[in-house]
Amino acid sequence: MNYTSTRDNNVKVQSKQAISQGISKDGGLFIPTEIPKISQADLELLRNADYPQRAQFILSKFLTDYSAQEINDCVVKAYTGGKFEDDENVAPVVNINNFNYMLELWHGPTCAFKDMALQLLPHLLTCAAKTTSDGKEIVILVATSGDTGKAALEGFKDVKDTKIMVFYPEDGVSPMQKLQMVTQEGENVSVCAIKGNFDDAQTSVKKIFTSDEINSKLEENKMQFSSANSINWGRLVPQIVYYFSSYLELMETGEIDYAGEKINIVVPTGNFGNILAAYYAMQMGLPVNKLICASNSNNILTEFLETGVYNRNRDFYTTISPSMDILISSNLERLLYHLTGCDDAKVRGYMNDLSQNGRYEVDDDIKSKLSDLFFAGSCDDEQTKETIKELFETENYLCDTHTAVAYNVCKQYREKTGDDKTPSIIASTASPFKFTDSVLKAVSDGSEISDEFQKVQELSVISGAAIPKGLSELDGKEIRFNDVCTDETMKEAVYKMLKF
Ligand SMILES: *Cc1c(COP(=O)(O)O)cnc(C)c1O
Repeated sequence: MNYTSTRDNNVKVQSKQAISQGISKDGGLFIPTEIPKISQADLELLRNADYPQRAQFILSKFLTDYSAQEINDCVVKAYTGGKFEDDENVAPVVNINNFNYMLELWHGPTCAFKDMALQLLPHLLTCAAKTTSDGKEIVILVATSGDTGKAALEGFKDVKDTKIMVFYPEDGVSPMQKLQMVTQEGENVSVCAIKGNFDDAQTSVKKIFTSDEINSKLEENKMQFSSANSINWGRLVPQIVYYFSSYLELMETGEIDYAGEKINIVVPTGNFGNILAAYYAMQMGLPVNKLICASNSNNILTEFLETGVYNRNRDFYTTISPSMDILISSNLERLLYHLTGCDDAKVRGYMNDLSQNGRYEVDDDIKSKLSDLFFAGSCDDEQTKETIKELFETENYLCDTHTAVAYNVCKQYREKTGDDKTPSIIASTASPFKFTDSVLKAVSDGSEISDEFQKVQELSVISGAAIPKGLSELDGKEIRFNDVCTDETMKEAVYKMLKF
């Protein structure tokens, strides 16, 4: 199967190249030129398979230049051997109430859904590099809104022939997220704060990626950049797997009566990666009624999906769901490419408008496709907290702030459309203990405690939920990284890390 660029249809590479390169030279994103199909018979066949087998099946449809053995090795390393809390059930599906199910994607080492892909990506990448990068060391640059950074560090730490450098917005991550990153172990890792928000970090990192000067400097030193952000195709494919897997779980428990019955998928959205994976699953043949896109107060996607106008000339809010505090949702570019019928010129035009004027508008044909596929909604911090409280008090289920946004928008969808019977899979993207402060405030009257780990204890006592090991072991851990940079000094920070 071939891959091309959203901004240039002349690009033609295989998946190993797409994954090791991360982003196309023209600034576009790699996409498959066709979407493989999964039949209802396949679904029946996969029903009794375990998670690694399901992953093997789906990955092999897209990663056709990897051998079956290579994919198997990668999948086994990622999803077995105790990386996730329960090897038998990597991504549990939990019934909340009538036809609403949480797909818990945060039982990996860093307690956010990013682990689902980032435990696998380093193996896909180093395997690809053997073929495509003739011995070059891979340098991973990451811009993070909080969770990707830690998950990437944990995935790449001490992986041979790789280095990883993470940039996070100085005041844009939760205390726990920050602590997870600045205490990161490993010989090949580095972490740096950047002044500004996530969009600034992402834009600066993209600039470094495409800088000729910096790239030739790497070349001289037998190194090559790649990306662990969801612009990398190797991040998206693993995410397609769990949507299929959740459907198969519902078939297993009899909550779906037959292969073909439709579900809704609700995703708390930031960079549009996770919901795009659900779109791909749907295009492959997963029976989906609506993709429900949930945003916080940074509701640029809600507006876009409703009006066809993408306008980032607006206030940026720092919310209690920081991993969704994003105004430039990179992966939307991939959706636009597919919905325009692979019109690279049109996508280039939109992206140009976005960088020049901060705005673009799609035509009526695309608007109508968008409204067929998606329902969009948003909720603010107050509603987020109320939702956490309501779920806790009525269903005895403790969820994090991002998942609460999704649940709230799922309810909005049900009320607005009257669809109260289609099973809805809600992507639960982080452990509540990763956002302890906000979650604690939502479920208790407020606490006087200021120490993060005492808050974690208190939340555990109140809720009866166990504290994930990956978080409790951070208490008292040595801080390794204090550096702060700006857009202008990011280059120096990269050079320092690479010892140039
Ligand atoms: C990254 C993240 C999101 C947003 O996912 P996208 O793929 O960027 O849309 C939502 N919730 C949590 C907890 C995250 O870490």
